[in-house]
Amino acid sequence: MTQIAPPRRTRVLHRSSRETPPLAVGGHGVWIVEAGGREVLDASGGAAVSCLGHQHPRVVEAVQHQVGQLCYAHTSFFSNEPAEALAEELVGHEPGGLAQAYFVAGGSEAVEAALKLARQYFLEIGQPRRTRFIARRQSYHGNTLGALSAGGNAWRRAPYAPMLSDAFSHVSPAFAYREMREGEDEPAFTARLAAELEAEFQRLGPGSVAAFLAEPVVGATAGCVPAPTGYFRAVREICDRHGALLILDEVMSGIGRTGTLHAWEQEGVSPDIQAIAKGLGGGYQPIGAVLVSGAVVDAIERGTGAFQHGHTYLAHPVACAAALEVQRTIREEGLLANVIAMGERLERRLTERFGNHHHVGDVRGRGLFRAIELVEDRRTKEPFDPALKLNARIKSEAFARGLACYPAGGTADGRRGDHVLLAPPYIVAAHEVDVIVERLGEAVDAALAGLP
Ligand code: PLP
Repeated sequence: MTQIAPPRRTRVLHRSSRETPPLAVGGHGVWIVEAGGREVLDASGGAAVSCLGHQHPRVVEAVQHQVGQLCYAHTSFFSNEPAEALAEELVGHEPGGLAQAYFVAGGSEAVEAALKLARQYFLEIGQPRRTRFIARRQSYHGNTLGALSAGGNAWRRAPYAPMLSDAFSHVSPAFAYREMREGEDEPAFTARLAAELEAEFQRLGPGSVAAFLAEPVVGATAGCVPAPTGYFRAVREICDRHGALLILDEVMSGIGRTGTLHAWEQEGVSPDIQAIAKGLGGGYQPIGAVLVSGAVVDAIERGTGAFQHGHTYLAHPVACAAALEVQRTIREEGLLANVIAMGERLERRLTERFGNHHHVGDVRGRGLFRAIELVEDRRTKEPFDPALKLNARIKSEAFARGLACYPAGGTADGRRGDHVLLAPPYIVAAHEVDVIVERLGEAVDAALAGLP
């Protein structure tokens, strides 16, 4: 087995200040090539980013063409062709009433813009008291301060708690494996969550909430957790009744990852504002977007006439050109059919390998967005002690076997175990799905065997 390069320090401040990761120098399909020639199977598309795999010729050519044409033009002076075409591609058919797209440089920027748009919408329509946002515990919406305030990941929030906004409150996650009570069925669970959300609206007071914000399928924090049937319909009804907006964060779960272009299509609701990012540019360029409903756009147009926000790299031409080609490729090559077929295979293989595993409590997810949750005791669902860092051990064992997967730790309060998230590119082939599960199985067992 190839060993991971020994730690050494370079001038880049890496995620770990103690270790420098191996150099990635190339890629093809689902594989990333290291400087020494080793190939690593990118089983999580980075962090659910790489939807077309690496070095897709169509996108490489589109980026090269755009670089030769126009690299940058500031949006306070100009629009550009790739941005206009990308917006047309994304909302030209008005899915669920979404009418316009606002292009930023990533997921956190998209969430920040979505929150501000909601706030400005209520200013425009003469409801300035709507300053509150409700989100959910165990959600992740990004690392900038507004997005972090919205998120419910206690570990990520903790160091910055004094800097976070108190405009946000949090309700329970729709996390059936962990939150559903003994004897409760899905409809009862959904009804309890809806009642809790309703109570939070009541507690904050009429006319005070601007929006409820949620990921349709929770990604990074809890590991591919879809909501129970009917949950989002109930949420939509509550938001409507209270005159609040529904913001869906599809930064990770969107753009085909769960088998439909938008994850909300499987919920029978549509949002007022939606954040997308990772699968939008597929990693070929940094890009995110906010998709905005006609009602919100119209309110701004009738009011001040401008969204009071902005960044230097809005609607960046090269990023938009890359994203446009990624989106056209997904559509023209019918890749969502492969997401569904390979997603089913991945689920089947994971269930065969881990369904009876002593330390795997749950296999879950949708499409090519799947996770396993590790537990000390399957019956009680008792997680492993987070201090054991089981997820990091699995990551390292998997990496040593040429598999990049995306794990995260459990919580100290025992409300969540370690999990491993898988999100391979939409072009993944059947034999590659099998390799992913085989290597992950070996890595999980090796990590468990290495526990003190
Ligand atoms: N929202 C969700 C649901 C995410 O999963 C992420 C990133 O993982 C973000 C927002 C933040 O995106 P970015 O890392 O591009 O800023």
